[in-house]
Parts: sequence; structure tokens; C-alpha cells
Amino acid sequence: MTPTRSCAGCGRRRPQPELFRFAAVNGVLTPGRALPGRGVYTCPRLQCFERARTRRAFNRVLKQTVQVPPALRRLYTDPSHATSPE
Ligand SMILES: [Zn+2]
Repeated sequence: MTPTRSCAGCGRRRPQPELFRFAAVNGVLTPGRALPGRGVYTCPRLQCFERARTRRAFNRVLKQTVQVPPALRRLYTDPSHATSPE
């Protein structure tokens, strides 16, 4: 069975492969399925990313203060990144 995770933006549960995963690497939010440690997920929608960012949901889920690089928005707006490389 495919595990489900909640989006940090809208809170909806989805199958894990449909979501973007991030983890904190040296205090910076970093995308990657294979990164160790606690992960945080969002739908592949910019709206969910922005909502998670403005509500500080990344910090809450990861239980630490993370920087959210603005370049991460490209994951959502550039179709070539629509499927995660990992
Ligand atoms: Zn969402």
C-alpha cells in the first residue's frame, strides 16, 4: 500500500509519490526524496508551498527554523521539475 502524507500547505492527505518532499539540510529547506531525517511534504502546487511558507508550516513540521530559499518556487512553476528526480 502506498503511504499517504499530509500537505503542509492545505493539509490534504495524498499518496506520498504525488507530493514534493523536503528536509532541512544545515537549516535550509531542501527538496529530495532520499534526504535523511524528518521530511515535510506539499502538493505540487505553488499555492500550497506559499501557504506552508507564510504559515511557517515547514518550521512546525520539521521542528526547527528553516530558511526557505525563494528559488524553491521554481520546483512548482517549471514543468521540467514536475516530477522529482529522485
Ligand atoms: Zn496542498
